Amino acid sequence: MAEAFIGLGSNIGNRKTNIEEALRRLFSTPEIKVVKTSSLYLTEPIGRVGQDWFINSAVEVSTQLSPKDLLYLSQKIEEQMGRVRTMPWGPRIIDLDILLYGSEIFEDNELIIPHPHMHKRKFVLVPLAEIAPDVVHPKLNKTVSELLHQIVVKDTQKVELYKE
Ligand code: ADP
Ligand code: MG
Repeated sequence: MAEAFIGLGSNIGNRKTNIEEALRRLFSTPEIKVVKTSSLYLTEPIGRVGQDWFINSAVEVSTQLSPKDLLYLSQKIEEQMGRVRTMPWGPRIIDLDILLYGSEIFEDNELIIPHPHMHKRKFVLVPLAEIAPDVVHPKLNKTVSELLHQIVVKDTQKVELYKE
């Protein structure tokens, strides 16, 4: 069994329902056990302006799936929920990114672990730090909370706890 962290995001349609539906699909997979889910956060879009704010969250799972199979499952859930890939950084119904998979370091043309942008993104690190502040990034040898503190001063992206 491996301990992995997945980041979720949605900025089209009912964003909260989309996140909850993706979580439900993850947890109904026999090879996946939920360990912890973060709160939902409202986050300002970056990279491409003029789109709706995102809801982001992070989840810790314990799984027998390999990193690749976890990626394929995530992509299957994105597809089943109707995600259409338009432009990079563009709006999406649901996005599932594998952030960490134990202390594995892996890279090929379809999967990079740890996720290559996670340490630079407040919308990833804020939810992740809520559930896993002391987990160590195996490439940077820093904890999630250290990574967040590194960027929080200069990163102006607005990230707020989501309230009904
Ligand atoms: P992004 O999440 O960067 O906004 P996409 O969700 O469209 O963009 O993903 C683009 C590609 O990133 C996917 O085709 C996938 O193969 C690749 N990828 C590489 N590493 C990861 C990872 N750790 N988790 C999810 N996708 C990844
Ligand atoms: Mg993605």
